[in-house]
Amino acid sequence: MKQLAWLGRSLKNICGWILTVLFGGVGVYALLDETEDGAALVAFCFLLAAFGVLLIRSARRDKKRAEARDEEERQYRRRQEEAAQERARQERRETVAYAAVECPGCGAVAKIRKGGVGRCEYCGTVLEGK
Ligand SMILES: [Zn+2]
Repeated sequence: MKQLAWLGRSLKNICGWILTVLFGGVGVYALLDETEDGAALVAFCFLLAAFGVLLIRSARRDKKRAEARDEEERQYRRRQEEAAQERARQERRETVAYAAVECPGCGAVAKIRKGGVGRCEYCGTVLEGK
């Protein structure tokens, strides 16, 4: 789909430039050369050249629109990623388990992170969370 849009834009651009340069050139040449050309022919050339300019501008507009869409898509994906990361962080936080450890020094029960080490808040004994 993206390639198709790109192809369409490129075609528009190329056709636009060909029309503009070719018929613009022929039109100017017809105006400036010695031979008498019919006004209709000159008008026709400039009309096609103008159509070419329109095509180029249209291609440019399409490109800008496509870029804006891409940027929007990128931002959306980034937000999604951030949300997923935030969710993962939250889950990790919630799964951190604590162990109730009885202090051998004073008998108080301390909450120590499982697998971690802490100190008894009353006597300072080092406690292991098992
Ligand atoms: Zn203690």
